[in-house]
Amino acid sequence: MLRSFTSTQSSKLAQFVRYASTKKYDVVVIGGGPGGYVAAIKAAQLGLNTACIEKRGALGGTCLNVGCIPSKSLLNNTHLLHTVQHEARDRGIAIDGTVGVDFGKLMAAKEKSVKQLTGGVEMLFKKNKVDYLKGTGSFVDEKKVKVDPIEGGEPVEVEAENFIVATGSEPTPFPGIEVDEERIVTSTGILSLKEIPERLAIIGGGIIGLEMASVYARLGSKVTVLEFQNSIGAGMDAEVSKTTQKLLSKQGLNIKTGTKVLSGKREGDVVKIEVEDAKSGKKEDLEADVLLVAVGRRPYTEGLNLEAAGLEKDNKGRLVIDDQLKSKHDHIRIIGDVTFGPMLAHKAEEEGIAAAEYIKNGHGHVNYANIPSVMYTHPEVAWVGLNEEQLKEKGIKYKVGKFPFIANSRAKTNLDTDGFVKIIADAETERVLGAHIIGPNAGEMIAEAGLALEYGASTEDIARTCHAHPTLSEAFKEAALATFDKPINF
Ligand code: FAD
Repeated sequence: MLRSFTSTQSSKLAQFVRYASTKKYDVVVIGGGPGGYVAAIKAAQLGLNTACIEKRGALGGTCLNVGCIPSKSLLNNTHLLHTVQHEARDRGIAIDGTVGVDFGKLMAAKEKSVKQLTGGVEMLFKKNKVDYLKGTGSFVDEKKVKVDPIEGGEPVEVEAENFIVATGSEPTPFPGIEVDEERIVTSTGILSLKEIPERLAIIGGGIIGLEMASVYARLGSKVTVLEFQNSIGAGMDAEVSKTTQKLLSKQGLNIKTGTKVLSGKREGDVVKIEVEDAKSGKKEDLEADVLLVAVGRRPYTEGLNLEAAGLEKDNKGRLVIDDQLKSKHDHIRIIGDVTFGPMLAHKAEEEGIAAAEYIKNGHGHVNYANIPSVMYTHPEVAWVGLNEEQLKEKGIKYKVGKFPFIANSRAKTNLDTDGFVKIIADAETERVLGAHIIGPNAGEMIAEAGLALEYGASTEDIARTCHAHPTLSEAFKEAALATFDKPINF
């Protein structure tokens, strides 16, 4: 039975209702991930009476709970471990005794970051007066959503002038391979293993697969990456992808490209995997203690009762929108992983801001040509704008400027010189069309390329901008210089 928010009820539910019952909302956001929570805060800041429904029991979505944040915690701390274990002595740091891993503490440090950040979003909701409705939202019709409280109790209904759907995504299953989140795991399971697997196999050489491969290789696992394509890091510039594969292989990762996985099955404490060389058809049997399935993510709309609101999906399960994030109803906007575009937290956030601004002001802005991608391995890989392959396909004439970190004074000082900056500019105008970086701190440096793209800068604009010395970003300046002139230090 459904009740409206005006009824008085017992304990928790009453509190929940009191929260929400004062007025009908201007905006109700479904999903409290980077898309949804940012949209809710922005809407409230714009003066709109706003609620956000989240069913996970914590805000921050995939990104803060089981994605960006826990993975970066493990990447950062295992990189430190690797540095101390393998490089500290050469850097003049004397270590008395052995340096080992405390896996429990590593995981606890990860949990601490997650809790601090998800709790921080809850505080931001309070600060901005966003009502946080802890429950599962499902459409009753296009103007009403039913909320099933996660803490139990009867469902309640919320009405709103506008809805923003931000229900995110989930790991794509691999046909025929059954995930148990123990021996055969998704990205969620690999972030919370109880022990370090001796042998880890990973299906998928994309960003998530390679980041987790790096983490466990540093922890001592024997890691095999199985990738169907002939290259890794889907979406990377081909030259960067090749260098990445070379450097990660040097770190001990066994990367098998052109390899088709035929099956994977748990037998006791072992996972048996059958693969086939995509070209020759030669079959091979592999064994692992843990198998990570990392073949991408798919939009998540389970339990949302889309039909009641008449929302449409495309053939990939993405909710269909127009160029103003609108579904077929003007008052229902859709953002983040559940709709078109790259599945990235910062893309979802941009759309969250834009959705709130469209509602309040009638206009918003997301530049889909300028969304950076970062892989947080070591070295990091980051890119934004177009790559050489895309430019060739579009028939656009371009120039390339490159600068290696081996010639950068800060990288040399840090004994961290793998990789390069590659900037691509329009052949006639010198306007920056794309930047592709593999190297230390690439993920931070790519913001400079984003700014250049956003403001239509030329490579000469970058090269004539004074960069502090000694910094890694001088490599960015030199690569810009190299597109139209000669670099100074190489
Ligand atoms: P989500 O974050 O998925 O949030 C959706 C929320 O909606 C969820 O909390 C869910 O519980 C809730 N929800 C769903 N249905 C309902 C309902 N009916 N009622 C109430 N609540 C509902 N991206 C990056 O940019 N950088 C990274 O470094 C990065 N690393 C990643 C690492 C891993 C291992 C993974 C898995 C992902 C990573 N991503 C990264 C991707 C990033 O997490 C997503 O792109 C981002 O979280 C999408 O945000 P969203 O708000 O669209 O959806």
